[in-house]
Amino acid sequence: MKKRLASGIIKHYVFGKQIPLIITHIITYKCNLKCEYCGIWKQKIQELETSEIKKIIDFFAEKGTISWEIGGGEPLLRKDIGEIIDHAKSKKMLVSLNTNGHLFEKRIDSLKNLDSIVFSIDGTEKIHDKIKRKGSYKKTLQSLELARKKGFKTLISTVISKINYNHLEDVLKIAKEKGVKIGFQPVHVDAYNDKKMVLTEEEFMESKKTIENFMKKNPGIVHQSKNYLDLMHKILFRKKKIKCFAGKLFFNLLPDGNLTPCWFKQIRKINPLKQSLNKLKVENKCSCTPTCYLRYNSLFSLQPGEIIFFLKNFLEFL
Ligand code: SF4
Ligand code: SF4
Repeated sequence: MKKRLASGIIKHYVFGKQIPLIITHIITYKCNLKCEYCGIWKQKIQELETSEIKKIIDFFAEKGTISWEIGGGEPLLRKDIGEIIDHAKSKKMLVSLNTNGHLFEKRIDSLKNLDSIVFSIDGTEKIHDKIKRKGSYKKTLQSLELARKKGFKTLISTVISKINYNHLEDVLKIAKEKGVKIGFQPVHVDAYNDKKMVLTEEEFMESKKTIENFMKKNPGIVHQSKNYLDLMHKILFRKKKIKCFAGKLFFNLLPDGNLTPCWFKQIRKINPLKQSLNKLKVENKCSCTPTCYLRYNSLFSLQPGEIIFFLKNFLEFL
């Protein structure tokens, strides 16, 4: 896995090749929740059948993909989720999945081959349930605990919005209590999200300070480095641009099988089984403020801090 990752990056740098090392697979837009900041579930689309997804996985395995990251919507709504995970695993990919956890217990037997599972928790019961829905916190926490007990590699992901930016201490404490690493993602602006939930710079800085203070006292729990949070700040508020590897080293697969460079460039899409990936090469001057792809971009642009953090924190998965 490490060799395939290094060889993909080298081939890209030396020969300018497109190597789809990472695929983020938005497997469905459907969701069993309606979070305050998210509107993805409003989107209707014809989803691929299991066999069609398997064909696309085979195609990317041939092209050198090492990581298949499944998200949505709520991916556990798909009854075939286990079959898809197992298929990607059979092609020697790392497979991870993001979930709100409500269906985790129901699907647990089919998820055993996952390399990691990320649960969304946005705060304490009061805050989380305000954002998601009443009863959601208990359900997600139960699932997280069950996943830990059953030996899944488990992470927490917290979306920072207007509702919880000044309550992050609480969710950090939950991660500490449960012995689970946690990462943060500010709400981004896209066609589906509620723009009223997006943070001002002042609000973002307040949340960043809380996270950094916690990191100083409790090393090893936040799954992001100080450098990474600094970079997140600069990108979000247009103080810095970073080279983007969308359409070059990572791609985004939509529920209907269309491939785009990233979530935000859906205007450029192809059927990967019929059209050349070349059509998705994004010009270098493209720059956006969402930080969803920051981890990949900072790793692939070989930022020393990020490489060290990656080696320390992700090597266990490779
Ligand atoms: S944020 Fe996640 S759980 Fe909430 S509505 Fe959107 S897809 Fe569903
Ligand atoms: S800069 Fe942003 S919008 Fe442009 S390709 Fe990269 S991730 Fe997509």
